[in-house]
Amino acid sequence: MSSVPVAVVTGSNKGIGFAIVRALCKQFPGDVYLTARDPGRGQEAVAKLQKEGLHALFHQLDVDELQSIRALRDFLKEKYGGLNVLVNNAGIAFKVHDTAPFAVQAEVTLKTNFFGTRNVCTELLPIVKPYGKVVNVSSVAGSSALGGCSQELQQKFRSNTITEDELVELMTKFVEDAKEGVHQKEGWPNTAYGVSKIGVTVLSRIQARMLNEKRKGDHILLNACCPGLVRTDMAGPKATKSPDEGAETPVYLALLPSDADGPHGQFVSDKTVRTW
Ligand code: NAP
Repeated sequence: MSSVPVAVVTGSNKGIGFAIVRALCKQFPGDVYLTARDPGRGQEAVAKLQKEGLHALFHQLDVDELQSIRALRDFLKEKYGGLNVLVNNAGIAFKVHDTAPFAVQAEVTLKTNFFGTRNVCTELLPIVKPYGKVVNVSSVAGSSALGGCSQELQQKFRSNTITEDELVELMTKFVEDAKEGVHQKEGWPNTAYGVSKIGVTVLSRIQARMLNEKRKGDHILLNACCPGLVRTDMAGPKATKSPDEGAETPVYLALLPSDADGPHGQFVSDKTVRTW
């Protein structure tokens, strides 16, 4: 088994994830895994970094597929005995003008952004090593969506005692309400992406709390963050930041020094803790 530290970035064949891998290749003292659902696109991305003189390793990972997540978990356990840095970056967003019905957008978006991210956490958090770092790429779109929720929902999402099961129930309810065309009547904002990112941020707050309760001595730091508005296929060419600039906050959180006791359980943008 290798004792080399290991970092994994989900959805990193392009966009912000790719830029996070690039930065980690330069700064992380260990093996860096670029992962992609499509091995062809993943290998191509690794080759692109190779041309920059950077050495990333590749492993397939589709966050929508439990089997794929478990294959990565088993590989990491066997080769490294766990992992040191996990960046949950994979995500999707329908374009504003997409004509897919809202119910479809809700189901598809939540499947990857919330349920996929949660499944990766469920499988990989238990093997994160002491002093490890976990970064969940969320969005300020989640914070805005929170403001668009009913008072009752806002209270639940801001609660310091909400459980993961309760959060999963709420995210499932959003998809069901969308299918029945009653999501706004039920107090949800009219944004599937925004709700999915509420889910990612609240999940991060819960997981950080659980780490405090169950693995305090392991000093693992787990946070959600927003990369900013970044020029990628998702946000388009008019966004303000380059992918490398968008990677800065996630990478800062992934490389917090081992003697840091925070941030932990926070929502961070521009390297600054924001009020949830
Ligand atoms: P992007 O360019 O569209 O890249 C998204 C990445 O996620 C791609 O590599 C994509 O792979 C991957 N992905 C999608 N579904 C996946 C799945 N089921 N399993 C594994 N990988 C999957 O988007 P981006 O702008 O870099 O976004 C990265 C993250 O930042 C997302 O979580 C996004 O919500 C968040 N974010 C972005 C912005 C922004 O302004 N761009 C702002 C706030 C937050 P394929 O190539 O196979 O599709």
